[in-house]
Amino acid sequence: MKIGFIGLGNMGLPMAANLVKAGHSVTGYDLNAAAMTALTQAGGQVAASAGEAVKGANVVITMLPAGEHVRQVYLNQGGLIDVTKGQKPLLIDCSTIDVDSARAVEAEARKAGLAMLDAPVSGGTAGAQNGTLTFMVGGSAEAFEAGKPVLEAMGKNIFHAGDAGAGQAVKICNNMMLAINMVGVAEGFILAQKLGLDWQKLHAICATATSNSWALSNYCPAPGTVATAPSARDYAPGFMAQLMLKDVKLSQAAAEATGSPTPLAAQAMSFYQAVCDAGDGAKDFSVVFRWLAGQGR
Ligand code: NAD
Repeated sequence: MKIGFIGLGNMGLPMAANLVKAGHSVTGYDLNAAAMTALTQAGGQVAASAGEAVKGANVVITMLPAGEHVRQVYLNQGGLIDVTKGQKPLLIDCSTIDVDSARAVEAEARKAGLAMLDAPVSGGTAGAQNGTLTFMVGGSAEAFEAGKPVLEAMGKNIFHAGDAGAGQAVKICNNMMLAINMVGVAEGFILAQKLGLDWQKLHAICATATSNSWALSNYCPAPGTVATAPSARDYAPGFMAQLMLKDVKLSQAAAEATGSPTPLAAQAMSFYQAVCDAGDGAKDFSVVFRWLAGQGR
């Protein structure tokens, strides 16, 4: 396949590199020149603009920060829908964005005769590097079948969640649960320290006990417990706290619109907001542990 890939950040770059490894021809574009250099080092090609990158592509993939970037890249004059409507590639947005933006962009794509999937991911940067991401996909069954082989080069579990926007709906529920869970793990490890416990021992025990979770076993926020976790590298991302804050805000807006009770997510959101206000928005979201530890006596 000839693939145009827009957004080569913490996630997009390793995902694009896996497409290259699978034998696809990948042309990328990012506002950040260093990210483009990294793609060429991984065997891809780069272009001078998003429009150039998707020229002649069978598949277009975007991995951008938020809904406004996705709307801008697809819908603006000279945007991806405009540029590709003649060549009819399959459009796949892997960013985590609000359901309304996902549905609005898909509707514009459909009007232009283009099939589009919302295909946000779970699994973090390690999952992106190892090609083991989980994809939660919204869109028609036909578009899903067309996109699945490409997604399989980047992920291990590819789920069709439902119609347009359903992938994003699953993703914001997933991240709302993760945001709360990370705070829970942080509280447990802070209390453990106050009780004189060793973090490594606590980690080893809880990873086989009922408190276990992905946040605890793979991504533990207490330094010295998981060698590959951001906590082992001064919370370098990973998944930035400002992106987690964006996602919990999305879940809270959806909860408000649907009358869903989500008091723990509201509390967790205030913590991630405090982390960002303290200047740690570009750190991994597990830095909430350090912020919370700083609130104690
Ligand atoms: P990132 O900030 O590292 O990467 C985004 C990239 O998009 C940046 O390199 C930026 O320069 C580029 N970009 C922004 N606007 C652009 C434009 N108009 N044209 C071209 N490039 C543009 O973020 P990330 O961690 O890679 O996350 C991307 C998306 O994936 C987000 O929606 C995030 O919520 C989601 N996500 C991230 C993780 C994770 O662990 N990092 C996990 C799952 C989902």
